[in-house]
Parts: sequence; C-alpha cells; structure tokens
Amino acid sequence: MNTTSTLTDSARETLETIIAVFKRVNRARVFGHVRPDGDCIGSLLGMHHILNHYGIAHELAAPELSGERYGPIPGFELIRDEPSSGFEPDVTIYVDNATPERSFAEPEAPDTTINIDHHAGNSRYAEVNWIEGGCAAVGEMLFDFARHAQIEITPDFATALLLALLTDTGSFRYSNVRARHFDITGDLIRAGGDLMLVNRTAFEGQRRESIQIAGEVYSSISFQCEGKAAWSELRAERLESFGGSVNVPENLVSELRAIRGVEVAVLFTELRPPGLRASLRGTGRIDVSAIAAQFGGGGHAAAAGITLSECDYESNRLKILAAIEHAVGC
Ligand code: 5GP
Ligand code: MN
Repeated sequence: MNTTSTLTDSARETLETIIAVFKRVNRARVFGHVRPDGDCIGSLLGMHHILNHYGIAHELAAPELSGERYGPIPGFELIRDEPSSGFEPDVTIYVDNATPERSFAEPEAPDTTINIDHHAGNSRYAEVNWIEGGCAAVGEMLFDFARHAQIEITPDFATALLLALLTDTGSFRYSNVRARHFDITGDLIRAGGDLMLVNRTAFEGQRRESIQIAGEVYSSISFQCEGKAAWSELRAERLESFGGSVNVPENLVSELRAIRGVEVAVLFTELRPPGLRASLRGTGRIDVSAIAAQFGGGGHAAAAGITLSECDYESNRLKILAAIEHAVGC
C-alpha cells in the first residue's frame, strides 16, 4: 500500500485542524447533499469510519435520501433522511456539499462546522473548510485523510470509498481521472473493498422503469448549434406514469454527452409543485458550472446542475437553452 500523498501544505494544515477538533469532541453529525449520489453516500459512510476511529458518537443524514439504489452498501442503514431532534452534536460536518442550500439548514446550536468538499466553487460556508477542487471525489479526500491520520481502512470503509470514487469518475471514464485513482483503487481492493458489490449496486440492477425512462429521454433528444448541444426532458406527467417516485438514473445525461460532436448536454426534469431541475454535462471546452451559476446552480466544470422551484417549467427551460447556445457560440 504505497499510494503517494498529494496533500499540499495548506491541506495538511486544514486536516490537522480537523483532527484537533475530532480529538476534543464527543458528538458529531455528518450532512450530505440533497438526493445523495454515490460519492455523497460513500463520503457519509467514510466519515462514519473516521469518526468511529476517534470514538465520536455520530449521526449521518442527507435530504431526500432513497434506499433504492445504494441500500446494499454496508452501513447504508445508518443514514437518515433528516437529523434527529434529540441529538445535540458538538460539531457538524458537511460532505460533498458545495453550498449550504443543498443540505440541511445551518445548525442553530453554536457548534463547530466543518466543510469537506471537492467542488472548486464551494462557497466556504463553514468555520473549517477543506476544499480540493482537483480531487475527483470526496471519497478520494477521505482516503487521504485516513492515510494522513493513520486510520485503518477496514473492508467496509474501503467499499464506501470505492463507491465514492467509481461513481464520481463514471467508472474511470470522466476527465477528472488521474493515475493515482488507480493506485487508490488497488489499495482499497487490497484492504478488502468489495468492488463487485459497488459495481452491482451503482451500475446494475436497474429498475424496469429506469430503463423505460431512459428510452423516453433518448427518444426525445433535440440538438442545437449544429449538434454541439444536446438536450432532452422528462415531463412530470410522463414521470408520474412511471410510478412517480422513480429516480431518474444518474448517468443518463452523461450518455447524451457521449453523442459524437456534442459539447454540452442537458437533461431537464419538470418538478411538481412547478419547477425545474437541469443536469448539465460538458466535454471540456465549455465550463457548464458557469452556465449553471447564471441560474443559481453550480457544480464542476464538466458536471453541474440547476434546481428552480416555484417557477414555470417551459419558460425557464428556454432561458437555460439560450444560455447554453450563447456559451457554445451559435
Ligand atoms: P447532477 O447533474 O448529477 O445532479 O449534478 C452534477 C453536479 O452539479 C453535482 O456535482 C452537483 O453538486 C451539482 N448540482 C446539481 N444540482 C445542483 C443545484 O441545484 N445547485 C447547485 N449549486 N449545484 C448542483
Ligand atoms: Mn462528489
């Protein structure tokens, strides 16, 4: 196990500050972002193992948690969909959460807040902010944490970090992949991480409705800017016909980006009560997080999102498409 550390001096200093907090507190809560993805779930569980190492009692929570996909990952059952009212932590830790609005409200009690994230545009909303825009996943940061603090990576801890790394790199297909991710993956497998379980839960075992939704999305793709922009949509009525609560597969929009010639892909989902969610993906030339930011959204250069509530779906879809056309330059 010899993956080299890439922590900068300032990251090391921040990590030491976090470790000092962990050595003095007794209770913590860890908050992920709304509709947690694989990196978020893996980071919540990774933090669970780190907090256990320090003997800190803790709870894990993320808004709009669904057990449908990641339920089989060891420890998933520890994650709640809201903080429990009776639990008074000394510290609140946010993971994979670029802005406070994407998670539970700032705690009222005067506790310490820590923010561990890999979104370059993170708004640094906590007292201690450890932000690594160059990391592919928060799971990668927690691997570095464990190594730096000499915390044993048990098999379940390794599985959680594998989940984080595989989902946020699209199984090593995205532009954020570096050679060290393969070293880390090797270390995690040697530590007993269950790669097949991660693959089965994250990428297989789709519900029939999810495949039908994919069909719906593929059959209504439109192209603009001579094929440089691709978009599709899921209207609320159609989604409801598939059972309502069915999750839209996370990788669908990446498949639109994979179409030859496409530089920006976007998938719109109509929300009820009226609103819109847009998932944007880019191939490099265009920073889609800058487009998302124009509408109060955010994310990474190659993957970003927008959520607009209490608004008209159609007119906002057109506004976002116009901003994409402008960015693509057509
Ligand atoms: P996805 O399209 O997979 O939901 O999100 C892609 C990226 O964009 C994620 O890294 C996520 O953090 C970010 N993102 C998605 N939706 C929103 C949103 O409504 N607001 C902000 N600020 N970021 C978002
Ligand atoms: Mn992430």
